[in-house]
Amino acid sequence: MSIVLSGMRPTGKLHLGNLYGALQNWINLQDKYKCYYFVADWHALTTGFSESKEIYDNTLEMIIDWLAFGLDPQKATLFVQSLVKEHAELFLLLSMITPVGKLERVPSYKDQIAQLGESRTANYGFLGYPVLMSADIIIYKANYVPVGIDQLAHLEFTREMVRSINHLVQKEVFIEPEPLLSEFPKILGTDGRKMSKSYDNAIYLADSEEQTAQKIKNMFTDPRRIRKTDPGVPKECGVFMLHNIFSDSQVCNEIEASCTNASIGCTDCKNMLIKNLNNKLRPIREKRKHLKENKSNEIIENIKESSKIASSAAKVSLESAKEAIFGNYLG
Ligand code: SF4
Repeated sequence: MSIVLSGMRPTGKLHLGNLYGALQNWINLQDKYKCYYFVADWHALTTGFSESKEIYDNTLEMIIDWLAFGLDPQKATLFVQSLVKEHAELFLLLSMITPVGKLERVPSYKDQIAQLGESRTANYGFLGYPVLMSADIIIYKANYVPVGIDQLAHLEFTREMVRSINHLVQKEVFIEPEPLLSEFPKILGTDGRKMSKSYDNAIYLADSEEQTAQKIKNMFTDPRRIRKTDPGVPKECGVFMLHNIFSDSQVCNEIEASCTNASIGCTDCKNMLIKNLNNKLRPIREKRKHLKENKSNEIIENIKESSKIASSAAKVSLESAKEAIFGNYLG
């Protein structure tokens, strides 16, 4: 069975953009592939060392969301990156063959510095994170990595890394991962920008129904609809994008028609969304609450155990890489 590898930084509770983007994709893939999904806690440190004390809580909240939403630890191996030390050892070895100039030319390097500022990015770990990402992927001999089109350049970095190391040791110790191109539904936040924790515009699975209702009531809509009699363009409205996920096709068709001909007001449209969204999330939220209140310790113990399974798999390819690099050096 082909292997899929993917990780998420532990930023805490997941919002609708995370859930119906990457996480829904992971759930779809867990039935078709041998999947390794991990909490990328070392990656989180590359831009957030000052918040390192929050990583434990964020990891737990995120894993609870994974499980409540439908990720199945019986189907996929869920683990925490820092519990699998082999990633760090392979990262060290790969660092030796990675030119610094190449890292500085990674497209997101300058963008992230501009976005996050020098104080969060002026560290060696941040510069080297594509090397760590490559180690994460190739140590499991992953055949596929789910990526959006904007992340293809990152995966190409890993593929080049594999070609370099295989060429240097004259042996195919690692395989080149292929992209599994994934299209996610567009989800806007309450302010009309992309839904994101850092924009403070997100609706979370962990929110109560009342918090959700309040956020939707305050949501930006199509700015053309100043008066109820102004026709709108629903495809450009964040509320309608959420209807596409949470309301059935008949309701979506009706809203599309009645927004376009100005026969529905935004308040009524939002009230329908509040009802449908809360109804659909209710059983997932109840499961989340149950896991959080009754199963947190068990979840932590389980993730430690499954990290050992990941570690066993990682050890095999790390050892074969070391043998190819060092020969019989120290056994
Ligand atoms: S009626 Fe609905 S879809 Fe149309 S602009 Fe208002 S909130 Fe958006």
